[in-house]
This record gives sequence, C-alpha cells and structure tokens, in this order.
Amino acid sequence: MLDVTRQPDAAVKNIRNFIAGDFVAAASGKTFDKYSPVTGALIARICEAGESEVDAAVKAARAALHGPWGSLTLAARADMLYAVANEINKRFDEFLEAEVADTGKPLSLARHLDIPRGAANFKVFADTIKNGSTEFFEMATPDGAGAINYALRRPIGVVGVVCPWNLPLLLMTWKVAPALACGNTVVVKPSEETPQTATLLGEVMNTVGVPKGVYNVVHGFGPDSAGEFLTRHPGVSAITFTGETRTGAAIMKAAADGARPVSLEMGGKNPAIVFADCDLEAALEGTMRSCFANAGQVCLGTERVFVERPLFDTFVAALKERAEKLKIGAPEDAATTMGPLISQEHRNKVLSYYAKAVTEGATVVTGGGAPVMPDAMAKGAFVQPTIWTGLPDTAVTVTEEIFGPCCHIAPFDSEDEVIKRANALDYGLAAAVWTTNLTRAHRVAGRIEAGIVWVNSWFLRDLRTPFGGTKQSGIGREGGVHSLAFYTELTNVCIKL
Ligand code: NAD
Repeated sequence: MLDVTRQPDAAVKNIRNFIAGDFVAAASGKTFDKYSPVTGALIARICEAGESEVDAAVKAARAALHGPWGSLTLAARADMLYAVANEINKRFDEFLEAEVADTGKPLSLARHLDIPRGAANFKVFADTIKNGSTEFFEMATPDGAGAINYALRRPIGVVGVVCPWNLPLLLMTWKVAPALACGNTVVVKPSEETPQTATLLGEVMNTVGVPKGVYNVVHGFGPDSAGEFLTRHPGVSAITFTGETRTGAAIMKAAADGARPVSLEMGGKNPAIVFADCDLEAALEGTMRSCFANAGQVCLGTERVFVERPLFDTFVAALKERAEKLKIGAPEDAATTMGPLISQEHRNKVLSYYAKAVTEGATVVTGGGAPVMPDAMAKGAFVQPTIWTGLPDTAVTVTEEIFGPCCHIAPFDSEDEVIKRANALDYGLAAAVWTTNLTRAHRVAGRIEAGIVWVNSWFLRDLRTPFGGTKQSGIGREGGVHSLAFYTELTNVCIKL
C-alpha cells in the first residue's frame, strides 16, 4: 500500500503515519496542510498523529527491538542497511521530487547533496558498525592471576528522532542510520514542513525487508502534538534532535523524566574570518556558499563575516557583485541558484530581521527585501539575498540566528580581537577561517569556540568525524564512532582468571 497517494481530483498528496510497517491515518481524523514554498499552492494533506498513534509507534518499536531486529546478526543488520541505501538510490527521482516539493530547493542542490547523502548515511554507518572495535583491558590482581575486562556494546533501545526541515532526508538519516546500525529501533518525527521523504523511506524499509516496527514515522507539530507526545513517552529510551536551541531545551526537560540521554544539534550564528592574506577567490566562493546555499537555511551557514581591514572594501564589493548574480527561481529551472524559504511563516520572520537591521542602523549593501516574482511564484516564500555592514557586534541582527540568505560583514584589525568577537555569542556550532598562513590557521582554529572549524573550505564533511556544537549549539557529538557512543550502552564484563 502506498503511503504517498495523489488524490484523483487534485495534485494534493495524502500522507500518513508509518507504524509497524503500515501506513495509517490518525484515529482522530485530524490532518494538517502543506503548501508549496514556491507557488503557495496546497500540495499535501498530512494525517496528524495523536497520543494513541505515537504510543502505537513506540510499542511497535519496542516489540521489534526484542523481536526480529534484535535477533539479527550484526552482519545481517549491516547488509540490510546497504540494501536501504541501494533502494534509495533506485528510487532516487521519487525522493528528489518529494524533497524538492516540500522545500522548494533547487533540484540541482537536492540531486547533489540531500538525496545522495541520505543513501550514503546508511552505507557509512553500516561500515562503521562492522568495523567497530571492542574495548579490552587486562588487569593485575593481588593473587597474581589477573583478570580481563571487555565491554559489550548493546543497543540503547527505542530512539526518538526529532528532525528539522532544512535538510530533511539528510539530517533524518544521519540519525536513523547509526541508530539502526547499532541495533536500536526508531520512531521519527519529521518536521511538519517536510513530511514526505521520511514517509517514503517507510516504503523502502518494507521493500528491503526491514522487520515491521524497526522504523516508524509519526507526523505532527511540536508542543501538544506528536513531537511532545514522542519525547515525553516513557517507552522512548533516548532522544536525538536537530533544530532550534529553544526546542532542544524543551526536549531536554522532557527527557529528564526517566533520566533519558539526549543528543542535541541546535542553532548557530556562525562566523567566517577572512584574513587579508587569504586566497580571495576561494574565500569569496566559500563565503557565497556558506551564506546563501539552501537560501541560507543551513545550520552550519555563515551569518557573521569578519574581514581584515585592508581587504574589507574589496571583499564587500566582490561579495555584493556575486550575491546580485544569484538567480532566484523555481527548483526545476536549471538556471536557479537560490530557491524560496521553507514557508510564509519563516519568510515573515526573515523579513522582520531585514526590517530590524535597518532600524538598527545597518548599511544595506544589497537586498533587504522580497523580490518581485512572476505570477506563478507570486505567493512563494522568496526573499532577496542580503548583505549588511555597519552594525555593532551587539546588534540583534548580528547576535540572533536568522536562518535566511543574509550576512553582516564587519572589519577587524587583529587576530586576538577577531577571535574574541567571533567567540562572543552563546552559540558555537561552526566557523570558517580563510588564510594562507598555515601557522595562523592552526592557531586560530584552536581558539575558536565551535564544534567544527573549516580552514579554507566550508561544508567539507567526512562522516567519520565528530559533528556537533559547543555552548548553546549542541550537546554531544555524532559521526563515526561518536554516533556509536550515543546509540549504544556499554556493559563491562570483568573475568577473574
Ligand atoms: P525547530 O526546533 O522549530 O523544530 C525541529 C523539530 O522539533 C520539528 O520536528 C518540530 O516539530 C519539533 N518540535 C518543536 N517543538 C517541540 C517540542 N516542544 N517537543 C518536541 N518536538 C518539538 O527547528 P526548525 O525550524 O525545524 O529548524 C531550524 C533550526 O534547526 C535552526 O535553528 C537551525 O540552526 C537548526 N539546525 C541545526 C542543525 C545542527 O546540526 N546543529 C542542523 C539543521 C538545523
């Protein structure tokens, strides 16, 4: 039975929850609507999970944990994850269409980033679990015979996975793949804005024979809806979350009941530091991507650019020229380099920051408003790529995460000064440093308070490396063996010889 069905009389999809291998509506009959960020048209009607559906999903996950999934060998489990990756690739175009419909992002971006990474996540974590090493310690004992210790890695249980809308399949599978690789079962709550690819993945799971109940999806919102019902459900053993810092704090409170572990990947207000000795072309290209890729809706994106004073005017002028060449448009138009924001609600939020920047006294270098779009996209959630200068580091525009295609550029005079300014916020997710001085690169990277520092690059990701944020940008690290650490419990066995 297909979960994503087009109703005969309209191009509106009907999207259901995926529980114990079946696509199910809500007993309450409640639904909510999803509108295209490109045209504003209704594109999907989603069945909203109530407490009973969330409860059924958690129970299904618990049953599968101790049933068919738990009895698979590690090798068989890994093979199943390779099969999931292959099936995503086989149905690549369906995932592409669903992701682009939900987000409005350019097809080329989703084709090269979102969908391939969705598949790659399953392969990488199948490899990781197969190659995971066991801890082994010999110890001395008073009688001289000694003892040996080894630690068994066990699944942590049913994992609640709460996801954002900016990179829906990529970020969801980044957590589902290691959770399953470690032998857990999951209940996923996708963002209400992007319900499609998580649901489509349910079909993939059924096709490759993942046992029923291992992967479940419940749709809905946060407070007083599926998100809250899931995170406070006592049957959930651990919660992994990506989204806003405020939401992460609420989830942490929910997880405190039952003392359940959390992994939180949250917001940022990431700096880029451009030294005068940088490779200017590379710095401009990287800063363009880090500010405007995915219409600025990337947690790792740059919103604060610091440029060493001798290069400041040149850099601002060159970035302006490039930003003005971005082509705003529809996803399927090959010329499009920037799509809409996710929703009208988010557009209003971003535009309110654009207005705030002006009242705070910013110089608007480019953009600052909404573009005039052709009729078909007049109701789309488009905004202009925007660059400001002239604000103090304390301005709201320079301290709060906007999550749109915008940045503020400020000059700096010394290394110590810029490090202090870069570290001044409560966020600490990512940073980019542009310099050809190797010693300085190491020195500065080591002093930036962030979970990830790129030198002369941006968004270059090796999935085995630790990923996460410091300060209010996150708790814990995922990626490679760091994911295994979160998604498993260790039981130490001590044997007296
Ligand atoms: P959000 O926090 O509004 O929502 C994320 C998810 O949490 C959604 O599924 C939502 O329904 C759910 N939710 C909301 N309130 C909840 C509650 N009280 N209990 C349980 N679930 C709840 O975030 P968003 O707007 O979807 O995403 C944008 C944010 O995500 C930005 O702040 C961005 O920086 C951050 N983000 C961080 C990373 C990272 O890796 N650090 C990656 C992507 C996005």
